[in-house]
Amino acid sequence: MRRETMLIDGLWVGSGSSATLDIDDPATGEIIATAPAATAQDLERAMAAAERGFIEWRRTVAWDRSEKLRQAARNIVADREIIASLLTEEQGKPLAQARAEVDTCVEQFEWFADEARRIYGRTVDATHRDLRIEVRREPIGPVAAFTPWNFPIMLAARKMAPALAAGCSIILTPAIEAPSACLAMVRAIQRAEFPAGVVNAVTGDPALISETLIGSGRIRKVSLTGSIRVGKLLMKLAADSMTNVSMELGGHGPVIVWDDVDVEAVARLSARTKFRNAGQVCVSPTRFYVRSSVIDEFTRAFLAETASIRVGDGRHAETAMGPLASTRRLDEVDRLVHDAVETHGAALAAGGRRIRSIGTGHYYEPTVLLDVPDAAPIMSTEPFGPVAMIAAVESLDEAITRANATPYGLAAYVFTRDVERIRKASENVEAGMVGVNNYLVSTAVAPFSGVKASGIGAENGTEAMDSYTTAKTVVVGVT
Ligand code: NAD
Repeated sequence: MRRETMLIDGLWVGSGSSATLDIDDPATGEIIATAPAATAQDLERAMAAAERGFIEWRRTVAWDRSEKLRQAARNIVADREIIASLLTEEQGKPLAQARAEVDTCVEQFEWFADEARRIYGRTVDATHRDLRIEVRREPIGPVAAFTPWNFPIMLAARKMAPALAAGCSIILTPAIEAPSACLAMVRAIQRAEFPAGVVNAVTGDPALISETLIGSGRIRKVSLTGSIRVGKLLMKLAADSMTNVSMELGGHGPVIVWDDVDVEAVARLSARTKFRNAGQVCVSPTRFYVRSSVIDEFTRAFLAETASIRVGDGRHAETAMGPLASTRRLDEVDRLVHDAVETHGAALAAGGRRIRSIGTGHYYEPTVLLDVPDAAPIMSTEPFGPVAMIAAVESLDEAITRANATPYGLAAYVFTRDVERIRKASENVEAGMVGVNNYLVSTAVAPFSGVKASGIGAENGTEAMDSYTTAKTVVVGVT
C-alpha cells in the first residue's frame, strides 16, 4: 500500500501525529493508499513556511519566476505516465482522459510562465502638476487553495500556476478523496527547485485544514473549487479574517439546440461530452433544450450514442466511462434520478441503475431522462454524475428562460448557425462562459468563471492574475 507524504517547508513529511486517512480505488472499493492527517501543528509549520517563502518569492524577478514555472511544466511532461496512472487508480477516469488532464496542467504552467513576465502596472496623470501617480501590481500574499476530486490535478494547477507566477507562496490542500496524483504533480513541480516554503501541500481533514488556515488571518487569499455548501463555509471563515476569496462552485450546464444544425452530429457529440469523467464535471452539459421540430431526431441519436458508451475500469483501453468517484456520489445521483422518475413523473429513457456486474466499484449507468418537470430537484440541483435531461422548447425565449432557471451560471451552450440566434442566446444566457457550436470552454488562455451561485472571480486567462495580485497606488510629490 502506498503511503503518501505532505510537502511542508521544502520537506516531504508525514503527520506529526502519524495519523492517516485511507484512499480507495473507485473501480474496486479497495483501500490502495493512505495520506497523512495533518495536525494543527503541521499546519502551523506550513503557514510559517509560506510566510517565509512569500518574502523570498515576491522578491524573485519575474523572469526567474517564469523560468521555474516553465521547468515545472517540463517536469510534469516527464512524469506524465506516473501522474496519469495514479489519477485513474484513485479517481476512476479512463487513462486517456487522465493523460489529457496531465496535458492541461502542462498548459497551465506554460501559459502562466508567460503571464509572470506580463504583470503590468500603470502611470496615471495626476490632478496636480507636482504629483506623479504609479499603480503597481503586487502579489497578494500566502494563498490557501482547496481543490476537489473530479479533476484533482488540473484544478490544482489552475490555482498553483497563477499564484506562483504572481509571486505568491501557496498551501495546497488536494481533495482527500484523491490526493495521490496531485501530490505526484507537486513532486514534479518542486523538482524545479522553488525556494523552501513557496510550494506546500497538506492533506487531512478538510474542515480542520480550512478552519486553521483561513481562521489564522495569515493567509491572504483563499481559492476553492468545490460545492456551494463548502464555498459558503469557507466564505464565512474568510469574512471573519477579512481574507480575499475566489470561488468556483459548479454549474448545471444548459444546452440550446436549434433545428438549423446537423442534429444527429450535435446529439452524438453532446452524449460523448456529457458522459466524460462520468458527468462529474462542473461545465458538463446537463439540461438539453431542443427545438420541438427536431427533438425526436436529437433524442434518438443521443440515446444511440449513450448506448455505445462502454462503462468499466478506467485502466482498460476500451473503457469510455469509469466508476463514480465515491459511494457518496453514487447514492446522490441515484437519489436524484429516482426522485425525478418516481415523485415527479419523468420518463427514464436510458440507465437509472447502479451497475453491479462489473465488480464492486461505484458504477452507474449513463442515464437519460425525458419530460422532467422544471420543479423536480434534479433540474436545479447539480447532478454531478452521468445524467442528462432532454426537453422540447418552442421558442428561443422559452429556451433562454428555462436555461436561466437555476441558481447556477457557469457554462452554457448553444448550437445554431443563425447569427441573430447566437447573439441573442449568448447575450441573454446567465453564464460565465458560452460555447457556441462547441463544448470547449475550458482553456488556460481565457477566463473560466461563473455568475450567480457558480462563484466569484475568474481562473485562467490574464484575468487569473488579478486574483493573486493587488493594486498599490504610489503618489509621489515632486518639486
Ligand atoms: P462536498 O460538498 O462534501 O465536498 C466537496 C469537496 O470539498 C471535497 O473535495 C471535500 O474534501 C471538500 N471539503 C468538504 N468539506 C470541506 C471543508 N470544511 N473545508 C474545505 N474543503 C472541504 O461534496 P462532494 O460529495 O464531494 O461533491 C459533490 C458536490 O460538490 C457536487 O454536487 C458538486 O456540486 C460539487 N463539486 C463541484 C466541483 C467543481 O468543479 N466546481 C468539483 C467537485 C465537487
